[in-house]
Amino acid sequence: MGRKPNILITNDDGIHSEGIAALEEGLRDIGEVYVVAPETEMSGASHSLTLARPLRIRQIDERHWTVDGTPTDCVTLALNQILAPDIRPDICASGINHGANLGDDATYSGTVAGAMEATILGVPGVAFSLVANRTWDFTESVRVAREVTIRTLAEGLPSGTLLNVNIPKGFAKGYRVTKQGFKTARPVISEHIDPRGKLYYWIGEVRDGFRAEGGTDFEAIDKGFVSITPMRSDLTNHLAIEEIRNWES
Ligand SMILES: [Mg+2]
Repeated sequence: MGRKPNILITNDDGIHSEGIAALEEGLRDIGEVYVVAPETEMSGASHSLTLARPLRIRQIDERHWTVDGTPTDCVTLALNQILAPDIRPDICASGINHGANLGDDATYSGTVAGAMEATILGVPGVAFSLVANRTWDFTESVRVAREVTIRTLAEGLPSGTLLNVNIPKGFAKGYRVTKQGFKTARPVISEHIDPRGKLYYWIGEVRDGFRAEGGTDFEAIDKGFVSITPMRSDLTNHLAIEEIRNWES
């Protein structure tokens, strides 16, 4: 690449989050950085695309835009409206998410979806998440994000592949390439009464632990490693095809 690479940054915690500022700061000297991120927090947005209402783009300065939608909206608009046709990103980095995207939680994740949307649109996508809660020190995750971004730019990713990168709290011992694990948590619905006497609800969950085994993302994090899970948008359970083949008629 004769020129500096173009780097698109998005997230699901919103443009004002600490994690996206840390990621931008960390990647700034690697390439030309452009940030297109949700105006407000969109955690849990998964891969949703806003179709039933209009979207507004707000330009903050030459390199920063907000969209009043999801990470998928941001990436779609970035690649087809905001940066196009002059700037084509060489990579899309999503995050750094405030909190883990391990196991089944990756399917709810707007952070992962941002990287997935980029991959679907032909730009290698990498999602970064810091496995922590309450206190946020992004120092180590920025170091990891830099290394993974540089390597992705240099080597590319297998066709149709995005990376879901989870970084443990504190010092990481190294990297493990993992498969998506299973969470063992159950939803907890808390019920409250608003100032006008009406009930409202908030969805949370209690963790019953996790299965940190078998080369999973959970195992890598549990042992103090960065977890890199290669993913794709193909939701097919390839192993099950033969199992239900006899449904064909
Ligand atoms: Mg989030």
